[in-house]
Amino acid sequence: TVYHFGGNAAHDDPRQGDKTVTGGKGANLAEMASIGLPVPPGFTITTEQCLEYLAGDKTFDNGLRSAVADAVAHIERSVGKTFGDASDPLLVSVRSGAAISMPGMMDTVLNLGLNDETVEGLANTSGDARFAWDSYRRFVQMYSDVVLGVDHGLFEEALEITKEDNGYYADTELSADEWRALVSEFKSIVQTELGEPFPQDPQAQLWGAIGAVFDSWDTDRAKIYRRLNDIPHDMGTAVNVQAMVFGNMGDTSATGVAFTRDPATGARAYYGEYLINAQGEDVVAGIRTPQYLTKDAREAAGAKPLSMEEAMPDAYGELARVFDLLEGHYRDMQDIEFTVERGKLWMLQTRSGKRTAKAALKMAVDMVGEGLIEEQEAVRRVDPMALDQLLHPTLDPSAERNVLATGLPASPGAAAGKIVLDADTAEQWSQRGDKVILVRVETSPEDIHGMHAAQGILTARGGMTSHAAVVARGMGRPCVSGASGVTIDRKTRTLRIGSQELKEGDEITLDGANGQVMLGIVPTVKPELAGDFGTLMVWADKLRRMKVRTNAETPDDCRMARQFGAEGIGLCRTEHMFFDAGRISAVRQMILAEDEKGRRKALEMLLPEQRADFTGIFEVMTGLPCTIRLLDPPLHEFLPTQDADFEDLADATGLGVDHLKRRAGELHEFNPMLGHRGCRLGITFPEIYEMQARAIFEAVCAVQKSSGEAPLPEIMIPLVATKRELELLRALVDRVAEEVFAEQGERVDYLVGTMIELPRAALMAGEIAHHGEFFSFGTNDLTQTTLGVSRDDSARFLAPYVDKGIFPRDPFVSLDIDGVGQLVEMAAERGRATRPDIKLGICGEHGGDPASIAFCEKVGLDYVSASPYRVPIARLAAAQAAL
Ligand code: ADP
Ligand code: MG
Ligand code: MG
Repeated sequence: TVYHFGGNAAHDDPRQGDKTVTGGKGANLAEMASIGLPVPPGFTITTEQCLEYLAGDKTFDNGLRSAVADAVAHIERSVGKTFGDASDPLLVSVRSGAAISMPGMMDTVLNLGLNDETVEGLANTSGDARFAWDSYRRFVQMYSDVVLGVDHGLFEEALEITKEDNGYYADTELSADEWRALVSEFKSIVQTELGEPFPQDPQAQLWGAIGAVFDSWDTDRAKIYRRLNDIPHDMGTAVNVQAMVFGNMGDTSATGVAFTRDPATGARAYYGEYLINAQGEDVVAGIRTPQYLTKDAREAAGAKPLSMEEAMPDAYGELARVFDLLEGHYRDMQDIEFTVERGKLWMLQTRSGKRTAKAALKMAVDMVGEGLIEEQEAVRRVDPMALDQLLHPTLDPSAERNVLATGLPASPGAAAGKIVLDADTAEQWSQRGDKVILVRVETSPEDIHGMHAAQGILTARGGMTSHAAVVARGMGRPCVSGASGVTIDRKTRTLRIGSQELKEGDEITLDGANGQVMLGIVPTVKPELAGDFGTLMVWADKLRRMKVRTNAETPDDCRMARQFGAEGIGLCRTEHMFFDAGRISAVRQMILAEDEKGRRKALEMLLPEQRADFTGIFEVMTGLPCTIRLLDPPLHEFLPTQDADFEDLADATGLGVDHLKRRAGELHEFNPMLGHRGCRLGITFPEIYEMQARAIFEAVCAVQKSSGEAPLPEIMIPLVATKRELELLRALVDRVAEEVFAEQGERVDYLVGTMIELPRAALMAGEIAHHGEFFSFGTNDLTQTTLGVSRDDSARFLAPYVDKGIFPRDPFVSLDIDGVGQLVEMAAERGRATRPDIKLGICGEHGGDPASIAFCEKVGLDYVSASPYRVPIARLAAAQAAL
């Protein structure tokens, strides 16, 4: 239940290295200690203990109490100090640490074990009273905030007043006596707020902090973060208790955070920030402006305060050695926290660092070149969804920029939208369809939902490793941090950027690549697909089995999808073509016609248009399979609703407006998604499908004649429930094909198949396969019809359903593998039993979702199909699924 690390701990139980047991922080602290790095000794209480505590009556059992007592004794022996000893006290930090790193969990408490007596002991042994009282005030402040729940603003205010009264700029200017006075003020704040004194007993402090870490697993902000990131709620968090080392012991001490490579660009250069005479939190909290780690970075930024490399060359040299060791050991870029206490380096954390998509790609490709990892590992490492960041536009370099301010380039990409000044407003405005930029002095874990809702984030304070920067990079949101020219007035909801006055709702653009903040919306340009992106995609393509096609209905979409690597069309929805301005009138004439003759007349007008549509697409897709779905939506979707439309139609047909309105009324359906749609249209109005089939075959023949090569049309009949439907419509398609081939004196290959999008079709797939050469799983409708949930009406209840754990994720985004997945698997099996070479694919939204793609690989589909921008995501996800 408790694992020791550092000191002379054994680190030999494999469970200690298991992040689900000891959390990421605990597992990595033990691992660093075991490879001989300087880690202050400590111990980890397991996630299991947390779950037990939360499930029970929130008390600590005797087993845990005695294990913790032993573990504290281990630390005491290792450092030669005693917890609570008034003359030479051991101080510890209490740190949360879940398996997956999670802002939103309890903040760390440092310097625990200090009280009115031990602070004197610390002053004596360190010979530095200022340091001792600074540590004590930090402890009272942190413990009161995160464990006792006292508003931290009260402490900050008291500190500000002391600084103002004395004319100080930095915290480091306060003397021992001034800190001492503040401590007693802090304690009386606690007394006033809680009606009880600040706890003096170190044991009570320790258990209070442990309980607070456990409890923080269940806080709202932790839950929100888990929901946004698909982290299960039943993992629990570990607690790490660790001997303190002090970065606030004067000018030979420091604290910092670092990455072994640049997390924004992926460049192979040490990257980070540090502060002299400070404790951990200070760097991240943006209280003082941190200094650069390396001389190169400092010079590149034109900054004056010395880099760590220059100010503390010995400790820096040691740190650089540790960087290389850690990268070699973990074979990945590491995100590191360290402290230097009187010249000696201590490691406090390491983990695989969050990175932008661009950096992830560059590092994966570079590390293969460096021999650190294999191609397979490189492919495995890049999150397919993160590619989205790279595939989207960046700011047009030739566009005019009205730059208002420049901050730090904290997370790359371009973002434009309306200014909002708090997270709730960001969420509300974005829900109503606005693009917003969240502007804050600095961000904290309470802002996560607003950061998520925003296009980009701008902060006035904080460095490249501030909360805003780290979270934005993880989310793929562009971010400019530390734009010191920005001042915000929360009362009037206005802000000033440089000399410009702006108000909430005004538009700005951020360039996360160079830190610029611009007035208005700046135009964007297309992404660069060569370089590391291209290299990784080549590796992915070698490793995947499934083909990747695209959903597209215009030549432009097809061209773009081919650039993104699409290997065919998985779904061409012909109805989109019917909505074009030039044709909707003919479509309406067809629908409203009284009889077949009237319909045929309207269809004749549509035929050349449809043929031209297909010709355009086929010219781009020669040599590739193209699945074309015949008309699917309920006819009423095309009906006119405006009087003006009825009048136009009356002119075109010579029929009266009243007559047309009556006819439209007759076509009204109560439940159109289960009504007169899909193949039911082809069965009742065969002339529609005849026209479409003719347009397709005439177009293929034309392209074959002109370019010597044709695409392979795969004609897809939608919404089939019975084999007879497919049998009749396939006969129709075959008949039209023969007619066209005879007329053209030209033959082409083609397939006829169906969508499996009704449960009955999945059940009867064995029979249906007799009449179709392929199945394409239409998982949008299959999800609707299997769950009995209308996709278009589900917004109101789906979010609460996901929150309450009824669905793990939105089933229209990520396939319901347990339920709908069974139908897919069964239909695939039954289809293959009838027709071993049947082609199987998926064309719902799920074709671009990595988890769903993994499922498609498992059931052995031949291809997935995704929208053009998602094609690279699908290629990578298909490769990962095959590994
Ligand atoms: P987070 O997960 O939010 O980063 P951490 O537990 O890592 O929280 O701690 C926050 C800060 O406190 C870090 O900068 C870390 O270096 C510092 N810190 C934690 N434990 C100690 C310790 N024992 N001695 C000195 N600094 C510490
Ligand atoms: Mg940390
Ligand atoms: Mg459908």
